[in-house]
Amino acid sequence: MARARIIPIFVPHLGCPNDCVFCDQKRISGSPLPASAADVTAALDRAQAQGASGVELAFYGGSFTAVSPDLQRRLLEAAQPWLEDGTVSSIRLSTRPDAVDEGVLDMLKGYGVGTVELGAQSMCDAVLAASGRGHAAADTARAAHLVKAAGLKLVLQMMTGLPGSDRETDVDTARRIIALEPDGARIYPTVIVRGTALEEMWRAGTYPEHTVSDAVAVCADILPLFEAAAIPVIRLGLNPTEELSAGGAVGGAYHPALGELVRSEILRRQAERLLEGVPAGADVTLGVAPERVSAMIGQHRSNIAALTAAFKLRRLRVKGLATAGDGVVLVDAQS
Ligand code: SF4
Repeated sequence: MARARIIPIFVPHLGCPNDCVFCDQKRISGSPLPASAADVTAALDRAQAQGASGVELAFYGGSFTAVSPDLQRRLLEAAQPWLEDGTVSSIRLSTRPDAVDEGVLDMLKGYGVGTVELGAQSMCDAVLAASGRGHAAADTARAAHLVKAAGLKLVLQMMTGLPGSDRETDVDTARRIIALEPDGARIYPTVIVRGTALEEMWRAGTYPEHTVSDAVAVCADILPLFEAAAIPVIRLGLNPTEELSAGGAVGGAYHPALGELVRSEILRRQAERLLEGVPAGADVTLGVAPERVSAMIGQHRSNIAALTAAFKLRRLRVKGLATAGDGVVLVDAQS
């Protein structure tokens, strides 16, 4: 899915009838005030002044179609002059699966919305219930079909490490999301945000933290499934914000380079398979695409250290190789 430059407008929590245990949209979106038509106008004025053309306007941060129909229309109407003059090529927004029906989708299409992102979060009903989501997996499947039937692009968002989930339910969620054939996906490992019900559950000992290493392990299972199905994962991990980094994230899988850690883990697993038959004491060179060299080496050379120790190698080098594709190849192994 080709991606245009995105102008984000955050619509935090406003009007959302739910209280998902992990959610404090004011903190997660980094924007505590509800968006207004004036914000849309100001953002697009700025973009136009900078010579923007064909940008995508994105309403993120809450449940767009759960806010009052009047505000939805005002926000969308504010974008119309820029759609007409070509500054904006399309609009995308995120919402809840149970806040979508044919009438809503018709209205969105009429205003130039091209992509709808649905917060599926889990496809396991027990996990959805334990997380206070207020909808079932069947709602996501139904909404996904409606979005596609309306001719809109579909992006599905999932989380790992929610209450009641484990590695198996998270991988199953990924498989069931892939079966819905979205045009893209986002994976958000659970972060414990200050002031949320999840923080209380964690402090009370009823929710085990989904650590960065838990998230890396399960996302390294999941990401290859999306890639094998040719579904782009357009985001892995919450966008770092000043507030989250300054203590808003009290636990869980908050890491500014989570995607890189996951890629590093996937490459380490592939390298382990390649090194199976290599004799101890060997001097080995692995090849990866040039842009993957640092992921293969790992943060603080963690992959080099782990693989060298596990396979008792004398030396392990990593070389950028344009022909390596997405994976790792064994270039040389000398005893
Ligand atoms: S539906 Fe979205 S905005 Fe509403 S509480 Fe849940 S995560 Fe937050």
